[in-house]
Amino acid sequence: MFSKELENLINATLEDGMLEEYEKAALVKRAQAEGVDIAELEIYINSILQKRQREADNERKAQYAKAEQKKKEAFGRVCPACGRQVPSMTLKCECGYEFTPQKQTSSIKVLLDKLDAINQKSTKMLQNREGKDNDETHSSLLKKNLM
Ligand SMILES: [Zn+2]
Repeated sequence: MFSKELENLINATLEDGMLEEYEKAALVKRAQAEGVDIAELEIYINSILQKRQREADNERKAQYAKAEQKKKEAFGRVCPACGRQVPSMTLKCECGYEFTPQKQTSSIKVLLDKLDAINQKSTKMLQNREGKDNDETHSSLLKKNLM
C-alpha cells in the first residue's frame, strides 16, 4: 500500500501505541512527499493504533486475572485442584484436595512487624519529649526514625 520507507516510519512511530502530534506531522509530510493519500494514511494509522490498543487491553486483562487468581490462592479461597471457591479456613475441598496451612511469616507480616516497631519507637520518643521544647514536628521525628 505504501512505500517500504513510509511503512517502516509508521511502524516505528506507532511502536508505543501512541501518536504524538509531531509524529503525525512527520508522517503526513512524508506521505505527501510520496504522493500518498492522507485519508488512506489516517485509516492505516488508526487501524494499527486500534490493534495495538486491543493487544494492550488483552495483556492488561490477562495480567489482572492472573494477579486475582494468585491473590485468591494466597488466601486459600480457591482450590488449586478444581478451582472451586472455598472458605478461607477450609482444610479439605469437596474434591478431596487438602490445603496445607499457610505460613505465618509472609513478607507482608515481616513488614507489618517492622512498621509496628517503628511506630512504638516513635510513640515512645514522643512521650519522652513531653514537657520539653517542642521544636521538632512529628513528621521530622518520624523521618529521623526511619533513617
Ligand atoms: Zn477442589
